[in-house]
Amino acid sequence: MSDIVLSEQNHAFIRSQKWEVAVLPFGATEPHNFHMPYGTDNYEVDVVGRRVCEYAYKKGAKVLLLPTMPFGVNTNHLKVPGALALSVTPTTLLKVLSDLVEALERQGIRKLMLLNGHGGNELKPLTRELFHRTKMFLCVCDWYKVGADQFKEIFVAPGEHADELETSMGLAYFPQFLKMDQAGPGIGRKTRFDAVNKGWVGLTRPWHLLTDDTGVGDPSTAAAEKGRKLMEVVEKRIGDFLVELAKTEMDEKFPF
Ligand SMILES: [Zn+2]
Repeated sequence: MSDIVLSEQNHAFIRSQKWEVAVLPFGATEPHNFHMPYGTDNYEVDVVGRRVCEYAYKKGAKVLLLPTMPFGVNTNHLKVPGALALSVTPTTLLKVLSDLVEALERQGIRKLMLLNGHGGNELKPLTRELFHRTKMFLCVCDWYKVGADQFKEIFVAPGEHADELETSMGLAYFPQFLKMDQAGPGIGRKTRFDAVNKGWVGLTRPWHLLTDDTGVGDPSTAAAEKGRKLMEVVEKRIGDFLVELAKTEMDEKFPF
């Protein structure tokens, strides 16, 4: 049981604290190659959320971890043969977020971090939509981008989905759900457009045409130790930011 996990705490404790920041994780339920569980993004963002909130709490910041939203945007996964991705649209995420922001704001929370663990969830536009409708401070963190400058040190060839990075996280934090002997090669195809492949034209890719095993990135070089190394970086960086955010007064020039 942890002080900072809302779903594990009772009302007697929660009401006795003055919570400065809440962290709301967003995941997804979708196939992750043949070797990782459908809940991969949720398990990852759960453990990252728990670690960063505990880190900040130990340094005196009143940071509370909210339950993970387990359904993400998978509109482009629905033609993968045999798959059962539980997709919601971006509009639904906006509605869920709007309702939770209103509920939290009415109950005195003033700062909220959206902690994202799934590439299909684009949360920043949602905060733009709510910007003039709430006094709450909203910020977004895609946890898997936080340590990007360290990828070369830690990984051989990080990919995109159920790759070396995600598989390493799985081996470190939820190994009981991994079946490494079933992993496919995770080969992601290029589109026929150079501009798209280079990244300066963006699009939503039909997943069943992108990859045969739903993975993008070779998982074969993954190791638990690599997942723990990445977590060290992520925990300290997000944790330190949360401490800073909790301690900073929201005056009229905030966040400047
Ligand atoms: Zn994932």
